[in-house]
Amino acid sequence: MEETRVKRRIVLVPVPAQGHVTPMMQLGKALQSIGFSITVVQTQYNRVTSSKDFSDFRFLTIPGSLTDSDLKNLGALQFLLKLNQTCGESFKHCLGQLLKEQDNNDDIACVIYDEYMYFSQAATKEFQLSSIVFSTTSATAFVCRSVLAKVNAEVFLIDIKDPELQDKVFPGLHPLRYKDLPTSAFGPLESLLKLYSEVVNTRTASAVIVNSVSCLESSSLTWLQRELQVPVYPIGPLHIAASAPSSLLEEDRSCIEWLNKLKPSSVVYISLGSLALMETKDMLEMAWGLSNSNQPFLWVIRPGSIPASEWTESLPEEFTKLVSEKGYIVKWAPQMEVLKHPAVGGFWSHCGWNSTLESIGEGIPMICRPFTGDQKVNARYLESVWRIGFQLEGELEKGTVERAVKRLFVDEEGAEMRKRAIGLKEKLEASVRSGGSSFRSLDDFVNSLKMKNSM
Ligand code: UDP
Repeated sequence: MEETRVKRRIVLVPVPAQGHVTPMMQLGKALQSIGFSITVVQTQYNRVTSSKDFSDFRFLTIPGSLTDSDLKNLGALQFLLKLNQTCGESFKHCLGQLLKEQDNNDDIACVIYDEYMYFSQAATKEFQLSSIVFSTTSATAFVCRSVLAKVNAEVFLIDIKDPELQDKVFPGLHPLRYKDLPTSAFGPLESLLKLYSEVVNTRTASAVIVNSVSCLESSSLTWLQRELQVPVYPIGPLHIAASAPSSLLEEDRSCIEWLNKLKPSSVVYISLGSLALMETKDMLEMAWGLSNSNQPFLWVIRPGSIPASEWTESLPEEFTKLVSEKGYIVKWAPQMEVLKHPAVGGFWSHCGWNSTLESIGEGIPMICRPFTGDQKVNARYLESVWRIGFQLEGELEKGTVERAVKRLFVDEEGAEMRKRAIGLKEKLEASVRSGGSSFRSLDDFVNSLKMKNSM
């Protein structure tokens, strides 16, 4: 009888952005812990370095790929489209080299690529390797992309701007309204629809892995399973299952000492993730509202997040005065540690999918201020499906900021949200434990690789 040989190397291709790198590295860690060796193929821009946390990972860089200044000049959407146009050949070369090196004990079980790095497919197919799509957003955002990729673009481009439609539910996407759809602040809608049609085209991929969990998104996962015609494995939230510190910016840990001095569940943590921007006037209204709320706050102000300003130098003196009493500002925080800290009681967030999962994973209710794309989808779910947060819509004004903080920290409604968030936290933890839905899903995925590779 022919001996079954299990292939043990997995090649990962992350998008070079924090919100994508983090879950991809967590996936790598999860797979490594069950015996796979991991090779990460990266572009020149935003590389994860081989630190002690990833000393067993191999990192390869695709030469000639786009750089930091390309991102600034092109904008995020065009950057992604261009990346996919330019990286195919060098990736093929890189994969070819890897295959030449391999010996019988260490060959490639599959290539797992971020859905936005779809250039990976061609070379993977050419070398007859198994290719797997990894989606780092919510399953519902994936459903939205699939639906939007098929809309009549001409009609949609008009409808999406129609003020009368904004509060109406988009057909087939209940409870998402037109205004919740994942349109982008980073480029024209036409480019976005083009990108979505590429991204949802899973081509010859043999499976899709999603960083989500059935207790959060059961109906969207069922939809994907039905429509995609390949197995869909919801194996998240990966940050609970696997620790993989992969911050691209330096974390300021002094905020943990600051938190240590504060009462349990008293602090508002504010962060808008790695890409969102904020106008000076909004910063000022927020500072006033936070200060008037009397609740202490830890605020991440990322360098470059205020347009035309390196960091906070464009903010008036008044801002510094307002935040100095009850607030603490850092450029980048160890977010997971912050959310775990007993002093943190609420998260003012842009609702990126990682931040959303990390907040739910700690039972922290949220004030939702989505900026772009899938963040709007997540915010809608946080507010109306999971009911562990609420959206702050329209112009930011100090009075509404103050009321929002009080709603979360003082009102009975906020306490109810916190209770529900803690309930969900327990469900998430159970899902990644032995026997839980995500645990089983990861197991099924690994078994599917064994079957494929032993044929
Ligand atoms: N993050 C962090 N420190 C910060 C702000 C964010 O470590 O000060 C991390 C956060 O924990 C999350 C990621 O950056 O894992 C942001 O991903 P998300 O999907 O929430 O948003 P994006 O940056 O993609 O908009």
